[in-house]
Amino acid sequence: MGAIGGDESVQWDKMNGAEVVNGGGSGAGSLDRIQVLVRVRPLSDKEIARGEPAEWECINDTTIMFRSTFPDRPTAPTAYTFDRVFHSECSTKEVYQEGVKEVALSVVGGINSSVFAYGQTSSGKTFTMTGVTECTVADIYDYINKHEERAFVLKFSAIEIYNEVVRDLLSAENTPLRLWDDAEKGTYVENLTEVILRDWNHLKGLISVCEAQRRTGETFLNEKSSRSHQILKLTVESSAREFLGKDKSTTLVASVNFVDLAGSERASQAMSAGTRLKEGCHINKSLLSLGTVIRKLSMGSNVHVPYRDSKLTRILQPSLGGNARTAIICTLSPATSHIEQSRNTLFFGSCAKDVVTNAQVNVVMSDKTLVKHLQKEVARLESELRQPVSNSSLEAQVKEKDNQIRKVQCMENSSLFSLVPE
Ligand code: ADP
Repeated sequence: MGAIGGDESVQWDKMNGAEVVNGGGSGAGSLDRIQVLVRVRPLSDKEIARGEPAEWECINDTTIMFRSTFPDRPTAPTAYTFDRVFHSECSTKEVYQEGVKEVALSVVGGINSSVFAYGQTSSGKTFTMTGVTECTVADIYDYINKHEERAFVLKFSAIEIYNEVVRDLLSAENTPLRLWDDAEKGTYVENLTEVILRDWNHLKGLISVCEAQRRTGETFLNEKSSRSHQILKLTVESSAREFLGKDKSTTLVASVNFVDLAGSERASQAMSAGTRLKEGCHINKSLLSLGTVIRKLSMGSNVHVPYRDSKLTRILQPSLGGNARTAIICTLSPATSHIEQSRNTLFFGSCAKDVVTNAQVNVVMSDKTLVKHLQKEVARLESELRQPVSNSSLEAQVKEKDNQIRKVQCMENSSLFSLVPE
């Protein structure tokens, strides 16, 4: 990737408290559908011992079919099509290479990305996310090694959301963390540990800390991990070395989220059983909200999307219809005893297929570059004003240009008052 100077067309956005421009040329970001993948795990020893056959078959690279003679809902579809489906013999490496890599690695080019695993407990979410995270990180470090012309800084943070309580997985303290909304930063977690990474081994060590923290939680309450969501966040910042410390210096900043969701049976139980739920059984509000948000988003743009209904959807709002590229891996057990849950998972995936995000390249400019850029823009608009215009719409055009100049000057003034520290 070459150096990005201050000449990009500007699209204003705010990120991490700094001024961010869209350096993507067209300036409008790119509309992108959420990538939806399905991964079927092999039958487990227990399922085999019970004599359960595999009820689902991936008939090609994109379609999964219900093959059973087991009496099921007669009106339910028998075939589902996704961006990619992976049968039980496929390795995690294949899932990563063919379904996730392109989305996840956008992060090195300044585009936010997220990878989710959705499915019922024991369908293979953690198995898949562990491998996919490792493959992504390996490729990010490989990219860094091949791009010595850029200076990279990697930061890592990790949270768990359990019963609407957010916990820092990198901190020994068990204190619940609060969420704050900020006009510039969006929703963020207060006092969250963010570690600047030394190298890949450092990151591996931190991921083990997170796993240990989750395990500790499980000893206090059975099944905790199947009810909690884990979000690992890796932020990649990079600047061209030749411009470091100079006027033209700009930084690409983006994060990739690896999201291991709670078991989806919690959501379908809550949705379908309602009053059947025993007193004291916790409905996973976040998972339920995620389903609603995905359904609403899939309905198009004129629908209210209740992101604020849960902590998970508040935190992940940019990944669900915002400034990010997103891949969702729906994990499935092929066994007879899980037919209903597998159908629910496929229904969730079918809704997610229709969700569109608007990913942008996030370029943080140095203060000087920002001011220069705005001055250039004012000069350009003024010179356009001086061009002879032949038709009668002259007055309207002058007004329009005046407005544009006023807007840019306004931004320039505000940027001088809230300079980003270099
Ligand atoms: P979840 O996170 O959905 O609860 P896990 O990832 O813990 O499920 O998987 C449950 C079990 O199935 C684990 O023992 C795991 O090793 C195994 N498993 C899951 N997916 C696969 C797969 N694709 N191939 C082989 N074993 C798998």
